[in-house]
Amino acid sequence: MVQLNVKEVEARLGEVKCAICKDNRFGIDSRTVAKGDGEWKAICLGCFYIFPVHTDMEFYLQTQPDIPYHLKEIACQSCRHRGVTLDFRAVLSVRESVYFVTCPSCHHKFPEQSFLESFE
Ligand SMILES: [Zn+2]
Ligand SMILES: [Zn+2]
Repeated sequence: MVQLNVKEVEARLGEVKCAICKDNRFGIDSRTVAKGDGEWKAICLGCFYIFPVHTDMEFYLQTQPDIPYHLKEIACQSCRHRGVTLDFRAVLSVRESVYFVTCPSCHHKFPEQSFLESFE
């Protein structure tokens, strides 16, 4: 699987808000990265709320065969190209999970609200 850069993940999490305090500064627990299973923990620097960040998207896409079809429907916010690649996802709360995607056409990266809350 593609090894994500921790600093980049922390920076991209800044595009969403903490489910508890609405702050947007997060850190990744480096111990969870070292485990190597792709299950990271993010910590809100405002209130220390912890939530999971899943980075093994290859495995996720295999177990959720509907997701690739949804990804094809997402339009890039920058160039309007349809179809994005999934980099990682963060589960901010029971009701809110966010996909962090990249447009293959212009390489714009942006967060997209998850469409399968009920599957979590
Ligand atoms: Zn918070
Ligand atoms: Zn684009």
